[in-house]
Amino acid sequence: MHAATLPWLLPRVLLVVAIVALAAEAGHAAGLALGAAHVGLLLGALAGAAGAVTLDALRARKVMHWLRRAPRDSAPSQTGVWGELSDRVERSLRTLERELQAEQLRIRQFLSAIDASPNGVVLLDAKDQMQWCNAMAADHLALDPVRDLQQPITNLVRAPRFVEHLQSADAGTPVHFSIPGRPMMLSVLARPYGDGRRLLLTQDITERLRTDEMRRDFVANVSHEIGTPLTVLAGFIETLTQIPLSESERRRALSVMGEQTRRIQTLVGDLLNLAQLEGSPRPATDQWVDVGTLLQRVEADARALSSGRQQFEIEPGAGGAIAGSEVELYSALGNLVTNAVHYTPAGGRIVVAWVPRAHGSAAFEVRDSGPGIAAEHLARLGERFYRVDGGRSRETGGTGLGLAIAKHAVRRHGGELEVQSQPGAGSTFRLVLPAARVRCGEASTREASSQA
Ligand code: ADP
Repeated sequence: MHAATLPWLLPRVLLVVAIVALAAEAGHAAGLALGAAHVGLLLGALAGAAGAVTLDALRARKVMHWLRRAPRDSAPSQTGVWGELSDRVERSLRTLERELQAEQLRIRQFLSAIDASPNGVVLLDAKDQMQWCNAMAADHLALDPVRDLQQPITNLVRAPRFVEHLQSADAGTPVHFSIPGRPMMLSVLARPYGDGRRLLLTQDITERLRTDEMRRDFVANVSHEIGTPLTVLAGFIETLTQIPLSESERRRALSVMGEQTRRIQTLVGDLLNLAQLEGSPRPATDQWVDVGTLLQRVEADARALSSGRQQFEIEPGAGGAIAGSEVELYSALGNLVTNAVHYTPAGGRIVVAWVPRAHGSAAFEVRDSGPGIAAEHLARLGERFYRVDGGRSRETGGTGLGLAIAKHAVRRHGGELEVQSQPGAGSTFRLVLPAARVRCGEASTREASSQA
């Protein structure tokens, strides 16, 4: 017998024996009086045993009742073995409850961590039925995290490539697909875990694919833009080395070679400009660039470039200053004015103005009386190498990067490049600068000059 059972079993056995013995004694005494001492003893012992069992049953009933009802209440207070039994059961229950609560908290924290993930996560059971999904996966796969529970995932996401991926043995590589009616490209990977269960990891790769495509286009464009003048140069070098040329032919060849070399130099310069704009921190907000000085510099350049072919007008307005980078602002405005000179025919008119706008913002405007641009091109102006008229652009020595540089530079100042144009009605390009970076009026002009 186990030593721990003695403390409660022994007194209990002694108590039952004592009750039975007392009852038997009482039965014996009563039996003697009636002349049936043995029968009295037996009946007394039976009555004592029945009494002890009934008492026990009543106390057990209390415990049973407590356990059946709701063991969240305290156990019935009793003495003896039933009291100890209830206490022990209650203590075990409370420990289990505490462990369960801690476990539930851990699971909740774990799920909220997955919920905060930028990637989508779906848990599938062995029959590919949805057990749980986070908000991101719900957004990616158009799922309802509550209504769709226990639904087979292939009923919820029917894209053939996805279904094929789930069924394929080699699910190590993610599958790319989009859900009809949603402008999102998804990457989904099914990973096995546990006994036949699967974890779906989803990612929105629209932006990544777009960037990849842009990078590929950019490399192709740069190769093409540099390749063309290089081919011309190579041709002339071959001619010069293999064929004896007259002096005038030689001069013409060298002039074309010089022109092609300048074209490459300009392109490389613009590419470096763009790379610098993309790779450096945003311009400081405590360096003030004087509007009047900037306009004077741009006007001088434009007049030199135009050589009197066009009519110029500068409208400095009340002047002012801009918080930012003089180099970048000069480059942005310079590109707009250079374009106006290149695309406006001789005798045309070009106006460069500084115009205050609503709520303290202001804009540089470059208006020309050139050929204008058809509406379908306007949204794409500012994309690298996007040209309305490729032939005309190359003829003028354009790289196709001028507006991209202007757009990038003004955006770095928190502003926007705006274009208004109609074929035959000229064009207006605006560098709109936010109020936070603009000081309009004479006072600010003086202040800016004194700081410079
Ligand atoms: P590019 O070096 O070819 O001028 P830009 O990025 O500066 O490259 O300009 C992109 C295209 O926008 C040009 O090729 C041209 O077709 C059009 N464009 C820019 N400015 C003007 C303008 N003032 N008038 C008409 N078309 C313009």
